[in-house]
Amino acid sequence: MRRTVLAVVLIVVGAGCLAVAAQQKQSLPPVRDIQKLRDNLYMISGGDTNDRTTWTGGNSLVFVTANGVVLVDTMLPGAGQSLLAKIRSVTDKPITTVINTHTHFDHSGSNNELPATIEFVAHEGTRANMARATCEPVTNCGAFKGDNAKYLPKKTYKDRLTLFSGKDQIDLYHFGRGHTNGDSFVVFPAVRAMHAGDMFPRSQMPFVDVANSGGSAVEFNATLQGAVSTIKNVDMVVGGHTPTPVTWNDFKTYTDFYRSFLTSAQDARRKGTPVDVFVKGYTVPSQFTGFVAAPASVKANAEAIWNETKK
Ligand SMILES: [Zn+2]
Repeated sequence: MRRTVLAVVLIVVGAGCLAVAAQQKQSLPPVRDIQKLRDNLYMISGGDTNDRTTWTGGNSLVFVTANGVVLVDTMLPGAGQSLLAKIRSVTDKPITTVINTHTHFDHSGSNNELPATIEFVAHEGTRANMARATCEPVTNCGAFKGDNAKYLPKKTYKDRLTLFSGKDQIDLYHFGRGHTNGDSFVVFPAVRAMHAGDMFPRSQMPFVDVANSGGSAVEFNATLQGAVSTIKNVDMVVGGHTPTPVTWNDFKTYTDFYRSFLTSAQDARRKGTPVDVFVKGYTVPSQFTGFVAAPASVKANAEAIWNETKK
């Protein structure tokens, strides 16, 4: 999720997880139509985070394998039945597997509305976040309490996990902390595609959830660099909220953009520049055409970098 969403979420924190979830369930519109990206790979866009009347959460990918459907991310609470209907419009096969790219409520929101026979898969850090006794609504641990604990990921991994084989193969990679402490890059080698979750906000400053889900504004860079240097043979990348898939080169440019931001921030900090002065003076380097650095995001990430560098 992006920072603007967090602001909205934080305003309603007092209402508690369940009230927030219930509110969203009532007001959530149907998810968008399913779009074919490759023969057996589809995308359901969650829409624009800033348009609360039509937004249904993070982007989902639907991968149809020989034995069933794999769904990556489950959008907001209330999206479950609508997601199932869109998937049924392209295949009769049942959903066998759900992969959550991370814990946030707009990526795991409808896990508990799907058939419990599904195998839920995520990084071990994401499972730990989902299984917390208490958390802010953004981390979504309230969705996995009591009987709903059965929707927690049963299959987890530390660095890398391969599911299935041949043209059905899916590779999950974790390269360290970033947006949260449990982000997965989900790769479909046979169709050369990847879901990068919220590690890839296309051409904007990332939202780094340091406060509630174990993210790191410093390690965010190393994690992106790990992905770009390790993952091969991908030419289509979907981000958590990108309106359309983009190219591997767009992803690569994003990793350069964030590295450049981190380097400038750390240089300034080393020179003793106050964080506010750095934030005021920061502009996106000209080679990153079309990139946007909202002042609030620059401030949040710079402050996180200053704090993390102190340790
Ligand atoms: Zn997120």
